[in-house]
Amino acid sequence: MSTRNVKNMKVLITGGAGFIGSHLSERHLNMGDEVAIIDNLSTGSIENIQHLEDHPHCTVVIDDILNTDLLRDLVDQCDIIYHLAAAVGVNFIIENPLSSLISNIRGTEIILELANERKKKVILASTSEIYGKKNGNVPFAENSDRMLGPTTVIRWNYSTSKAVDELFALAYWREKRLPCVIVRPFNVIGPRQSGHYGMVAPRFVKQALLGHPITVYGDGEQRRCWTYIDDALDGLVALANSDEAVGEIFNLGSHFETSIRDLAFRVKELTSSDSEIEFVPYDQAWPKGTYEDLMYRAPDLTKIRDYVGYDPNVDLESALMNIIKYYKR
Ligand code: UDP
Repeated sequence: MSTRNVKNMKVLITGGAGFIGSHLSERHLNMGDEVAIIDNLSTGSIENIQHLEDHPHCTVVIDDILNTDLLRDLVDQCDIIYHLAAAVGVNFIIENPLSSLISNIRGTEIILELANERKKKVILASTSEIYGKKNGNVPFAENSDRMLGPTTVIRWNYSTSKAVDELFALAYWREKRLPCVIVRPFNVIGPRQSGHYGMVAPRFVKQALLGHPITVYGDGEQRRCWTYIDDALDGLVALANSDEAVGEIFNLGSHFETSIRDLAFRVKELTSSDSEIEFVPYDQAWPKGTYEDLMYRAPDLTKIRDYVGYDPNVDLESALMNIIKYYKR
């Protein structure tokens, strides 16, 4: 992986109390950087960053990224911005479609506008949800076509809002030379991820540990590739340090692929749980017309490997064991 030449950066992490943001904050503090976190705790949590709050190089601001004046100060003081603050999780999006659009579109617009005033580099967390449904060309490469369902299905709100974010970032780069790097994570998992907003891995682990039914939606044949948080951080930090990555879009994922049904069986086995595996029809899992599943999502990782030598190596079993250990605590 590439190394960087600047020491002790000042890093602003929006959404720094979230699952990925809190680990990223920790990673930069361990690298000797100063970290400012801004988070409104809508899906993040203070427990994720409690252990960082007393760190001499960490500042935590609990506020909203729509608070432009506050954000302007934070942007002024930093060298680089990771923009992770967003409405995430299928449950959250379906329950809060309006605030999701506002956070994801207006929030990003504000970050990019302020970053542009000072020409601060922005690492924009987009999503693999961008690609939408399997459209004949999985694994998805960064220039693959997108295929989404109708706007009446709330799930597509997220993909669309993130696509607008990407378009803004690309336009700022092309027209204003604002240095931006766009990253599309694929099913990142690890300790601190909450199952409350939809994410399947922590949901299954929690269900298994509590002896509750493990709820597989549909027939469980839908497939995903699982990216462990440490690998995701390696990729993010390497992209942030790369001059060549500016103005580009990157998949961030792994080839550790399973069906959701297999995931359920693996979690059951690794937790030695007596839980039943329950197949739940989609119309019982979600209000009618709000949700549509993606049957297959897998990344083409050629580009990120070529640019920064990204090479994910934490397999699903090790990832699940770490999540199980976390939830047992
Ligand atoms: N899923 C499931 N049971 C749950 C939660 C999710 O079977 O309790 C399925 C969901 O339908 C999808 C997959 O797990 O096929 C991954 O869902 P998640 O929301 O974690 O992320 P996605 O990859 O769909 O964005």
